[in-house]
Amino acid sequence: MKNENNKYVISSNLLLVICSIAFTIFYNEAFFRNLVKVYPINNENIVFIISAAIVVCALTFFILRIFSNRYTTKTLLIVLFPCAALANYFMNSYNIVIDTAMIQNTLATDFRESSDLFSVKLLVNFLFWGILPSLIIFNFKVQSKPFRKEILSRSAFLGASLIISVSLIFLSSEHFASFFRENKILRYYTNPLTFIYSGTAYISEQMQSTKLEEKIMIGDDAKIPEWDEDRELIILVVGETARSDHFSLNGYSRKTNPQLESYDLTSFSNAYSCATSTAISVPCMFALTEQSGFNLSEASNIENLLDVLHHANVATLWRDNNSDSKGVAIPEIYQDFRNPELNHHCDVECRDIGMLDGLDEYINQQESQDIVIVLHQMGNHGPAYYKRYPKDFEIFTPVCESNQLEECSTEEINNAYDNAILYTDHFLAETIEFLKKYDDQFETAMFYMSDHGESLGEFSLYLHGLPNFIAPDAQRHIPAIVWLGENYEITNENLAQKKDYSISHDNFFHTVLGLMEIETEIYNRNLDLIHNI
Ligand SMILES: [Zn+2]
Repeated sequence: MKNENNKYVISSNLLLVICSIAFTIFYNEAFFRNLVKVYPINNENIVFIISAAIVVCALTFFILRIFSNRYTTKTLLIVLFPCAALANYFMNSYNIVIDTAMIQNTLATDFRESSDLFSVKLLVNFLFWGILPSLIIFNFKVQSKPFRKEILSRSAFLGASLIISVSLIFLSSEHFASFFRENKILRYYTNPLTFIYSGTAYISEQMQSTKLEEKIMIGDDAKIPEWDEDRELIILVVGETARSDHFSLNGYSRKTNPQLESYDLTSFSNAYSCATSTAISVPCMFALTEQSGFNLSEASNIENLLDVLHHANVATLWRDNNSDSKGVAIPEIYQDFRNPELNHHCDVECRDIGMLDGLDEYINQQESQDIVIVLHQMGNHGPAYYKRYPKDFEIFTPVCESNQLEECSTEEINNAYDNAILYTDHFLAETIEFLKKYDDQFETAMFYMSDHGESLGEFSLYLHGLPNFIAPDAQRHIPAIVWLGENYEITNENLAQKKDYSISHDNFFHTVLGLMEIETEIYNRNLDLIHNI
């Protein structure tokens, strides 16, 4: 039916019912694909699978109904369809889920990073499943009944959707019990329910967190004791998306560490990340708070490891070839090495190795201070692993040259990924070579830790970012390497005895303080990999 403005008229309940059915059928491929993996289609499961579909539809309606009123229905749907289309595309392509951390991550990603994800398929999907439905809805006029009638009809629809959901859950209670208890991950694939939930949780988290004008000070007693007459020069390498089990130093069958294997160093084989995303892991590494109590918005109000180093009068520098320091470094010490004006090793993109250029100058400028330099790598950032290394490093072939990982074979994905590890191997070896030049003037050390791991297609999962409690080992089991120069009282050989210790990002903060021989009340020797027993 058309009204006087030549627009089609529809009641809000009917529109929401149609949209809920459309969402359930066309935007939940990842949910159903994962559901039937756990509950294969057979006589025993079929009723449950159909019930689950109806419950998803009824709950989608329920939530949409709650969030919409006479003024918001259309806007809500017009915004929701493009978001649901994107969520559906990425969940299908990489089997990721959209939780609060993923939203945080997406918002912290810049254009250069997201351009790696772009494809024609994404554009077509977005136009067809995102923009087209929004345009159709735009052309409808949503009709409301008189106030009382409207309230009654809404309540009836809300009640009906709840009754349907509860009855179906009750009828297949055994299946639903295992669905809710043992297969929590499945819920994360419901679209758009999950991202409505995550988006709301993210916004309320942001609203509750207040940004303090001045950060809470920690370790203001930090100092280098008088007996420590040697100067320290330490390079901390914050890795990106590297997996422990893809380092031959840790037993990987492919020789991905041909250069590092020739050094005396310690590769910790049992290291785990704080989180599965850059946006959380990097601040967590530099925070005093351990992973168990870590909260991103709280951490942004508390000083971090670099501040403690400043209290002890250490000169610090942060060079970044990733997106940014995720709030860890103050602008005064920050240098963007994705900028070709600073980084002289840029081809299709700027290379990590460029971060070593000009460091001599920086070191010579510091007359008597100890020095800590942080190098934040581009590393193995996905999905375009094939872009992460210069052509000379393309040793394992054929490689996946697409960001549509699901279209490549496992072998091609692993080849591209492993070539990028080869490049990190080279970069770390060059970093050690750089430090060796300063062995006669400083106590030198390199400490490398990746921010998180990566799924490369195991369990059909790709990339990273799953919540910790369901994240597979591959997303959190990271490489961690310490190399010590000749002047440390502890040798690489001694340290190597600890290589199978169970360690995590929690050790990063205190190990750096230990390497710097800084005294402060907040130092925890038990977490210092060098000095713990
Ligand atoms: Zn990362």
